[in-house]
Amino acid sequence: ADEVVLVGRSNVGKSTLMRELTGHSFDAGRKPGVTREPNHYDWASEDFVISDLPGFGFMSGVSEEHREQIKTDVVQYLERYAENILAGVIVLDGKSAVDIIDRHSGEDEIPHDVEFYYLLSDLGIPPIIAVNKMDKVDDRDERLNEIADRFGLVPPWTQWRDTIAPMTAKRGQISALNDAVNMHLEDAKRDDLK
Ligand code: GDP
Repeated sequence: ADEVVLVGRSNVGKSTLMRELTGHSFDAGRKPGVTREPNHYDWASEDFVISDLPGFGFMSGVSEEHREQIKTDVVQYLERYAENILAGVIVLDGKSAVDIIDRHSGEDEIPHDVEFYYLLSDLGIPPIIAVNKMDKVDDRDERLNEIADRFGLVPPWTQWRDTIAPMTAKRGQISALNDAVNMHLEDAKRDDLK
């Protein structure tokens, strides 16, 4: 496994995180998540590439039909390369994620972040929920427990350190994400030895 994929709504801090991970800067034209094709970058401190995936329903300003097409393409990409993908990082804004998820949860609606989480799981790709902007969150544990719950993970969140990674990308505080990725790397190595 030598690829990590990344998704998230706009403004959650994907570009900021990618800058931290890769050392590249991302201008508006190449912002993660707004492109139509997966873009690949080298993860500076590790031996794999990180790919930002197109919006997966997160994109605004495009037609419903176009959004569906993008989604189909993303699903196909993930199916095709699942064997090679170490983890799928879903970036959330810790301050607003619970409200957004709850607003979009209903009888026949599932929030994109949650849908993507289940898609990854179904494909055997370990999902990592990177909860960004933790500098703006006061009730840290409570918030992370709520987020865990929304993804079907039984709180306390501290049981899920391979899946829930609180971070403040803006200040370069991303060690929990690195730790989570490394846990999956160790798992993958173990599986390879079997
Ligand atoms: P993207 O649209 O997902 O690529 O998000 P950006 O990386 O462009 O970030 C959107 C906004 O959130 C910018 O104003 C960033 O400075 C800000 N931001 C990113 N990470 C953090 C963080 O950890 N804490 C706070 N408070 N703001 C952040």
